[in-house]
Amino acid sequence: MNAEIIAVGSELLTPHRQDTNSLYLTEKLNDLGVEVRFKCIVGDDAEGITAAAKLAMRRSDIIIFSGGLGPTEDDLTRESIAEALGLKLQRDSAILARLEERFAKRGYKMTPNNAKQADVISSATALPNSQGTAPGQWIAGKYDGHERIVMLLPGPPYELKTMFENECIERLRARIPAQHIAVRTLKMAMMPESQVDARVAPIYKKYADIETTILAGGGEIQLYLRCRKDSQAEAEARVEDLAEKIEDELGDAIFSRKGEALEQIVSYQLQMRGMTLATAESCTGGLLAERITSLSGSSRYFLGGAVVYSNALKTQFANVPKALIDQHGAVSREVAKALAEGIRKRCLASFGVGITGVAGPTGGTEQKPVGLVYVALAGEEGTQVVERNFPGDRRNIRLFATQQALEMIRRALL
Ligand code: AMP
Ligand code: MG
Repeated sequence: MNAEIIAVGSELLTPHRQDTNSLYLTEKLNDLGVEVRFKCIVGDDAEGITAAAKLAMRRSDIIIFSGGLGPTEDDLTRESIAEALGLKLQRDSAILARLEERFAKRGYKMTPNNAKQADVISSATALPNSQGTAPGQWIAGKYDGHERIVMLLPGPPYELKTMFENECIERLRARIPAQHIAVRTLKMAMMPESQVDARVAPIYKKYADIETTILAGGGEIQLYLRCRKDSQAEAEARVEDLAEKIEDELGDAIFSRKGEALEQIVSYQLQMRGMTLATAESCTGGLLAERITSLSGSSRYFLGGAVVYSNALKTQFANVPKALIDQHGAVSREVAKALAEGIRKRCLASFGVGITGVAGPTGGTEQKPVGLVYVALAGEEGTQVVERNFPGDRRNIRLFATQQALEMIRRALL
């Protein structure tokens, strides 16, 4: 069975708001073995919603609408879908009474515009909304000779999630053939996408029943494997088989098999060894510390760090000799090494990280172009420094630099 998700809301067509409901719904539908074949975003416009609904009714088995169920003028989902299905809206007196009660409980008198939230499409089942006012709707039946399931869900993400979980999943399960999907997400850091694909494509091409997607960005490659079978065990066994063959080929380069972030893996490793970390960051401005401390419990291994942007602070906080900076420049192999060693010593950490580079877009020179970054890792066994020329904009270069640092720590702890 295949599904289509239609997100309704003019704000979703601006650069300021994203349609996240469809991401959540896609994950849940996939868990049920349902494939999402189309997604659509439509503004708060009756004609547009009706047209999108008509098209979806022709091509998709399951159609989920999100948004536009509220009480205001721009909430047009109910009437537009009724129009598309050629059905009428009926005001449900029990829902109306519950709405009035809800307002009364909060000490408000319900304004008349709220009444339309009690309008239910004939043949629909109203779905209670435990988190808000607008009920959802569930319609299952034949449309132009095809079995269709249509859901109208509220836009606010917590309302939609609660309603989908409480009201829709069981109803769907009862109507769709049991289908099972198994997925694996293998992650690698600091490898070119083409190199990964050249090595693994000959392997995954032999598994025609597994959908393999490669996603790359921010110094990370994700190999996403997805397989659909009649039983969960069969699907799991099949993706596991391919995942193992890919792991045989890529070995240590794979840092995660369950989709964990690189900082999470480094966290496991440091905790397992009882080791600690301190950072001295220049061009990343604390981004590495931010990534590390985004995990709860990071105080167990992260002692702290310094953002040493100026040369003076590199000396003051990370003990980088002024003469070294004068001789080699702040962006240099020598200064990266001194930052890592200096912060390690000052913080009494097992590992010290130093990062210095040109994040751009200004400040590059012929000798030290934008994207040039030195990352150093100092440990008990000495210090390693890596010189990289990262592509992309400031955000990307800084992200790459932190990824490089985390990957160096991971490798040192293998
Ligand atoms: P509505 O039910 O259309 O009144 O939506 C209420 C609020 O929910 C909107 O202001 C949005 O902020 C949010 N919202 C609506 N649709 C979505 C969506 N597809 N993804 C994430 N948030 C949404
Ligand atoms: Mg809206």
